[in-house]
Amino acid sequence: MLTATVAGVQVDTRHWIGGERVASAQTFTDVSPIDGQVLAEVARGGQAEANAAVAAAVAAFPAWARLSPAERGAILHRVADNVEAHIEELAQLETTDNGSLLRSHRRGVMPRVVMNLRFFADYAMERLQYPVFETRGHSNHVSWDPSGVAAIITPWNAPLMLATWRIGPALAAGDTVVLKPPEWAPLTASYFAELAHEAGLPAGVFNVLQGFGPEAGAALAGHPDIARICFTGSVPTAKKVAHAAAENLVPCSFELGGKSPTVILDDADLDLAVDLAVEQYDNAGQVCLAGTRLLVQRGIAEAFAARFAARAAEIRQGDPRDEATQIGPNIHLDHVARVEGFVMRAREQGARVVFGGARNTDLGTHYFHPTLIVDAEAGSEILTQEVFGPVLTMQIFDTDDEGLALANGTEFGLAACVVTGSRARAESFCKHLVAGTIWVNCFFVRDLAAPFGGSRKSGIGREGGIWSFDFYADVKNTVYSPNGWRE
Ligand code: NAD
Repeated sequence: MLTATVAGVQVDTRHWIGGERVASAQTFTDVSPIDGQVLAEVARGGQAEANAAVAAAVAAFPAWARLSPAERGAILHRVADNVEAHIEELAQLETTDNGSLLRSHRRGVMPRVVMNLRFFADYAMERLQYPVFETRGHSNHVSWDPSGVAAIITPWNAPLMLATWRIGPALAAGDTVVLKPPEWAPLTASYFAELAHEAGLPAGVFNVLQGFGPEAGAALAGHPDIARICFTGSVPTAKKVAHAAAENLVPCSFELGGKSPTVILDDADLDLAVDLAVEQYDNAGQVCLAGTRLLVQRGIAEAFAARFAARAAEIRQGDPRDEATQIGPNIHLDHVARVEGFVMRAREQGARVVFGGARNTDLGTHYFHPTLIVDAEAGSEILTQEVFGPVLTMQIFDTDDEGLALANGTEFGLAACVVTGSRARAESFCKHLVAGTIWVNCFFVRDLAAPFGGSRKSGIGREGGIWSFDFYADVKNTVYSPNGWRE
């Protein structure tokens, strides 16, 4: 039996398949980024376990799909109730496992997990409608039918939030689910399975396949019996998933990386601009949406840079369980080395590190100082590739057109933040920005009804509101003739 007690919470780390715990011959070791402590041995699945999980989800599909949205919604609300009753345990578990702030897990992230379930359950019950429309006297009736088994593959930077943001709509749409959680933060998925089971989610409707990406993940993505793949992660992995999906012509939703700009125009409120720029270090830079490229208009560049440096120096880095901590560790030693590599190569290529640029060894091995890099060569790696650590760059531009060209000048298009005092300038800037989400004079305001996703290499498709249902469901049009009726 594989169980562990982590932060006082008991977790069974075997797979969850068909309503039962299933072991694997092999396991892997899960370590906390806070202090490198071993947390658990976790089941390491492969093809056989992927087959079993998909078979369980296929078997559970007909009964789940036949329930009405209200019946499924009632069960999802009971799951949400149970998650809500265990927010503290989930927050402790997630923080210990992935190193993100405990206070944000308690007050922001885990309540959002609850919302992910409730919002999509309610949406399916109340808002999933398209008006009937006429074609030459015939009427068109659009419906969203369950499509089958959804494979959901997620990363470690917000494990349970990103998983339930897909599990919610998939289950509400009548699909059954196999979740492959991240191997660097696998624990909340296992615990969530327990909570969902206790709340009455039928066996096989939701399954957890633990393991490594190239093993469990690849086996799941290439499985011929899945109907959808929702993948959140990096571009190189997405290409592998796309190849696997192509073999079976399975529709994919991809939420990938970014290199988003924070554009500060010269009429911006400077205090606001500094606040928003400092926010880009949140979660130690491990946020897909982070606006890590600060693009500042020349007129205010000097004043901004001075205030920003002063504010960044005040950021409290430390144990993410401490209420006063603002940024914690990075997830894994391999990842810290990757972040370090980016900074080292930037220096070698002539860029200048204004502050940070090294590990915060006072805190241990996993903590990287908030870093600012300037004078990087146009087109260089540090300005074009996702670092996914607390590393920002700053570039200065003169005209709005130059700012726009810089903002759009990568292969990504996930998000952008624009800071300006002028609505007209904001509107003209946003009109031409390539990004799935733009925040003007704000950051991270999210509504689950809004479309979410990336342009260019940042993703394929959109999720949120109706867009989630368009993906997870089979959208059907039934045409009724005015003729041929006996009653
Ligand atoms: P990753 O691509 O390494 O892994 C993501 C998931 O894919 C993990 O569960 C992993 O086990 C699995 N995987 C790995 N190889 C696989 C394979 N061959 N087949 C199937 N699955 C496989 O990404 P990561 O390092 O875990 O996460 C960081 C990345 O995620 C960043 O690029 C970040 O921007 C992105 N991200 C995007 C969003 C978004 O909404 N756009 C949100 C969060 C993170």
